[in-house]
Amino acid sequence: MSEEFLNQDVRYVKGVGEKRADVWADAHGVRTVRDLLHFYPRRYLDRTTVTPVGRLQESPDPVTVVGTVQSTSVVPGKNQKRFELILQGEQGGRMKCTWFQGVWWVRKAFEEGDQVAFHGKVEKYGRWFSMTHPDFDTLNDEGALLDTGRIVPLYPGGEAMSNVGLTSRSVRRILYTLFKEHGLKLKETLPDWMVETYDLMEGRVALRAIHFPKSQAELADAKRRLKFEELFYIQLLLAQMRQEQEEVAGPAFEDPDEHTRTFVREVLPFELTGAQKRSLRQVIEDTQSGVQMNRLLQGDVGSGKTVVAVAAMMHAYDSGYQSAFMAPTELLAEQHYQNLTEYLRPMGLMPHLLVGGQPKSEREAILKDLKEGRAPVAVGTHALIQDEVEFNNLGLAVVDEQHRFGVAQRAEMFEKGTQPHMLLMTATPIPRSLAMTLYGDLDVSKIDEMPPGRKPVETRLRAEKRRGEVYAFLRDRLEQGEQAYVVYPLVEESEKMDLKDAESGAEDLQEQFPDFTVGLAHGQLPSDQTEQTMQRFKAGEIDILVATTVIEVGVDVPNATVMMIEHAERFGLSQLHQLRGRVGRSDQQSYCILMAGYKRSQEAKQRLQAMVRTNDGFEISETDLQIRGAGDFFGTRQSGMPDLKIADITEDTEILEDARDAAFTLVEQDPHLRADEHEHLRHRYEDSYAEHGLGFARVG
Ligand code: ADP
Ligand code: MG
Repeated sequence: MSEEFLNQDVRYVKGVGEKRADVWADAHGVRTVRDLLHFYPRRYLDRTTVTPVGRLQESPDPVTVVGTVQSTSVVPGKNQKRFELILQGEQGGRMKCTWFQGVWWVRKAFEEGDQVAFHGKVEKYGRWFSMTHPDFDTLNDEGALLDTGRIVPLYPGGEAMSNVGLTSRSVRRILYTLFKEHGLKLKETLPDWMVETYDLMEGRVALRAIHFPKSQAELADAKRRLKFEELFYIQLLLAQMRQEQEEVAGPAFEDPDEHTRTFVREVLPFELTGAQKRSLRQVIEDTQSGVQMNRLLQGDVGSGKTVVAVAAMMHAYDSGYQSAFMAPTELLAEQHYQNLTEYLRPMGLMPHLLVGGQPKSEREAILKDLKEGRAPVAVGTHALIQDEVEFNNLGLAVVDEQHRFGVAQRAEMFEKGTQPHMLLMTATPIPRSLAMTLYGDLDVSKIDEMPPGRKPVETRLRAEKRRGEVYAFLRDRLEQGEQAYVVYPLVEESEKMDLKDAESGAEDLQEQFPDFTVGLAHGQLPSDQTEQTMQRFKAGEIDILVATTVIEVGVDVPNATVMMIEHAERFGLSQLHQLRGRVGRSDQQSYCILMAGYKRSQEAKQRLQAMVRTNDGFEISETDLQIRGAGDFFGTRQSGMPDLKIADITEDTEILEDARDAAFTLVEQDPHLRADEHEHLRHRYEDSYAEHGLGFARVG
């Protein structure tokens, strides 16, 4: 197959045609012959992977069954209709499959007597083993393939695809004919040394085997090769970005001087931990090198990232540069502003605050100060990176909770004026595999040590009926002069009800605790009011702060020792952990109480159990990644996670490491891919990854 042929429109492939091509492009982005070859099966069937219906057991992991449709019916329910199907197993046994959604479509998809394969989690209802919304394929006369010991590929489908007859079966035929008629003269794109070093299957063999594997072993090799290739091009991009960065000039800071020293030695009432010192040293070294710094400062909530950032900002000031500190929300920006004010005051400095919604005259004065260099330290939200904001000589930009910023915002920050040094902070410990992909171009400093004297937070899971007990406990803590947070979930879809929940929760608490002061903070209240409530909480005038997740990040009230989370089953795991990080900020014992109803999904159970099991942010985030999958971990689009067709970052860590190793070795040897033996690779990289890659590159 020539390059030209690979780029040909898929509609001209035998068995496709215009109508199918349109649907294929819409549903799965298949436009060219190359796309078609990379339209991988979503699953395979063979005798070794099919579970006999008669031997089913409840299992959280999905299983595959094959059988004959015995009967189907649309059952009128209380609120909604459902579609039920009884499957007769080939070797006996029966099971039920149920759909609550797409009832009319699935009804059309099956007929009695059809031979079908289902794939899904098995649950037991009464005497029935059952799957809800299983993935399915109609096999009919193809079921025989299984009996001949073949491995049958099943392709991604859906309603639109099946409407134009693009079933697994017809896709298989189209591909089969394509391979047969055009043979496989694909060029090997990866250089020999790479294929050898990493023991890879040849590209053309892998492409054929992924569709028509002769054995499970061959399939495994094919998958490994294709995953490697997919990950390799991403890593190649990162390797190149990294190399380019090494060539970008940044302001050369001088040796840390008076303000840096005063801040660390006199202003801070404590000594930096070893991990903080090490991180600060790394930052100082970077900013003195003359090359732009791109460093990620990673540390669990409460590990003390902010003070490291402030020291770095003082270093910028000592070197004659301005610095900016960007927070994800206005509330946080304001809190950082107050903290910074306290830190800087003893040195006779004042930070500037820039957020949205400041009066025009005030805003203009601030902008003028930034531009004319009278503002050594600016704190703000993304308002800091709007077009009209100009700095006189920005030397360092700190981005707090960087994963909360949209991709575009972070990118804009990079473009601001001459290249300032970038210090990106995150409290989300990123599993190594994700870090390699998301931040593969950044240097990383880890604060892996908590300030001394901290006691691990004790976490308890409590059901509604024990609320009385929980309140008694809360009263004890309050009577000791300690403070508490009570947090309610807030999601867009049910925002009004959620707010009501929080409001009535606050009222109830005030009734239950008449001799203590209850405050309420949430995003719908005017921001100065919320800010005032926070201030009063900080000052100890409010004992119980009821809030929605506005307090998720950044709030620092060491005297608060209880974090009570209502409807804990509705929060994500990382979010729960972040919330828990609001307590345990002093040497007092702190507590996290998760209030959860009994109606919990499997995932919710896993999340709550993880919280009770561990305080370790790293373990939490690994678990979170496993529960949610990589795409969802940060939200694909926001994080700029590349769209992967076959590799899975959570599972394919070893392949990822190999791919990374290969890409970095390559760039080291041949930075611009000019060597003859890298010609095919270069073309492939430029052709199909350049566009995709650029989008990814913008993410950083
Ligand atoms: P992070 O931003 O990483 O969540 P912060 O910088 O807000 O953490 O620090 C959390 C709390 O710990 C703050 O009250 C801070 O003053 C305090 N802190 C930071 N470093 C130390 C240290 N080395 N020793 C004692 N307390 C510290
Ligand atoms: Mg912080």
